[in-house]
Amino acid sequence: DALGPTITVGEILVEIVATTEGEGFLEPLDLIGPFPSGAPAIFIDQCARIGGSAAMVGAVGDDDFGQVNIRRLQRDGVDVSAVSVSTDHPTGSAFVRYRPDGTRDFVFNIAKSAAALLEWTTQLEMLVSRAGHLHIMGTVLAMPSAWEITKRAADIIRARGGSLSLDPNLRKELIDHGQVREQFKQLVEMADLILPSGEELVLAAGVQDERAAVQSLFQRGANEIVIKRGRAGSTYYDRHGARIDCPAFLVDELDPTGAGDCFGGAYVGCRRLGMAPAQALNYANAAGARNVTVRGPMEGAGTRAELDDFMARTARASS
Ligand code: ATP
Ligand code: MG
Repeated sequence: DALGPTITVGEILVEIVATTEGEGFLEPLDLIGPFPSGAPAIFIDQCARIGGSAAMVGAVGDDDFGQVNIRRLQRDGVDVSAVSVSTDHPTGSAFVRYRPDGTRDFVFNIAKSAAALLEWTTQLEMLVSRAGHLHIMGTVLAMPSAWEITKRAADIIRARGGSLSLDPNLRKELIDHGQVREQFKQLVEMADLILPSGEELVLAAGVQDERAAVQSLFQRGANEIVIKRGRAGSTYYDRHGARIDCPAFLVDELDPTGAGDCFGGAYVGCRRLGMAPAQALNYANAAGARNVTVRGPMEGAGTRAELDDFMARTARASS
């Protein structure tokens, strides 16, 4: 990471999870939490745990939920100098309950919490001026302050020779919302590396067939595309026609939240440490799979040693 740390911008949350499956939160429930969470926070935590130089841009409230996040990120080696502590707004939160079919009900406090109310501070200016890579989460499109910071940081980091990655993390329902489609197009054009999953590839490219979608993203500037396929593993493409398929590790999925974020954090972290795509993809697959075996959104993020150990004792699906 000679050029400086990998940074990401966005929501820092606590997640509080119902211990029973069922419909929503309409009666008293047993809950477990608070767990540190937020897609960008999970990403950056995994990036640091695998050994990458990593820094978080976000905000928490002046409360215990904020401390839960700051302490975890610090413990795992994330630079939190650009995480501000708001005295006006509480830390963001998400209450989550799984339904028997695997879908989820949420009660969010994000838009009016510190998580979504970011400012361009002196600490942020200093961090961005020495950053080497910006990882962008599609969730910034739902938060105007994070979008403004992302654009400004992207310009600075690109001007100093840094690189950009994008996890579209975008639901179909969001894309036709206001300026989201146009903003998303801008993100796709900025990114050197894109890490879509499922329908996001089609959303990003506007083309149905996978090969054609990948080609269209390369034409728009990307150098590497890594497709996440849940329990079917992942695939790497480069603009010169190379393709690497990585079969998934066979695990019991206890909590699917955070798999894509850990996958991305490990992939970007490893690539920036100088690993070749095949090795980075292997670690990313392991990071995503390991995280789903542990309850809590970032509780299963692994160090390089933990992921080596996980890979040594876990079988893979046959490809
Ligand atoms: P998220 O729900 O976090 O947004 P995503 O859709 O971005 O997830 P997934 O494809 O679900 O990303 O997961 C990322 C990677 O993690 C997969 O490509 C795979 O390598 C690994 N992974 C996820 N779930 C499983 C699983 N059940 N078994 C094995 N590996 C998994
Ligand atoms: Mg995702």
